[in-house]
Amino acid sequence: MIAVYPGSFDPITMGHIDLIQRMSLLYDEVVVLVSQSTEKKYLFTVDERIELIQKSLAHLKNITVESSSGLTVDYLKKKNAKIIIRGLRAVVDFEYENTMASMNKKIAPDVETLLVFASPQYYFISSRGVKEVAKHQGPLAGLVTEPVKLALKEKFKN
Ligand code: ADP
Repeated sequence: MIAVYPGSFDPITMGHIDLIQRMSLLYDEVVVLVSQSTEKKYLFTVDERIELIQKSLAHLKNITVESSSGLTVDYLKKKNAKIIIRGLRAVVDFEYENTMASMNKKIAPDVETLLVFASPQYYFISSRGVKEVAKHQGPLAGLVTEPVKLALKEKFKN
């Protein structure tokens, strides 16, 4: 069975990687779907985000990285997939994820959203937080992989 994990991944963090690793043990294939929304401002281009994900997940075999600028459920239909994976960190994630899952249920009733709890050691990591640390030249060890660390340093070098 295929599970699709959509997100911005701007950039991919240890939290995302932990979730992907765990899901790769449960599903035949995990598609990391990099979303490209005109509503959002990204630090990395979609190609950069894809490359960083591929470099960070080189050790996993059953992962595919793709991008989409449309609805996630349309991508799932095309792939004949039925499962969307999303991560849940603190309570603040809940409302957003619940609203999105309900909207997806309304427009694609045969698709299920599975919410996976963040591992305790990673629950506080967000792409936003990582960018904030990087912007001020703070230490990124344990937050992102080496390729992401280098890419962030490059983006924020003066
Ligand atoms: P989006 O902009 O679509 O929310 P993100 O790239 O920020 O995309 O996150 C993608 C998914 O991964 C979301 O469901 C988010 O809650 C989850 N996620 C983000 N960070 C972590 C983490 N540290 N542990 C587990 N899940 C996470």
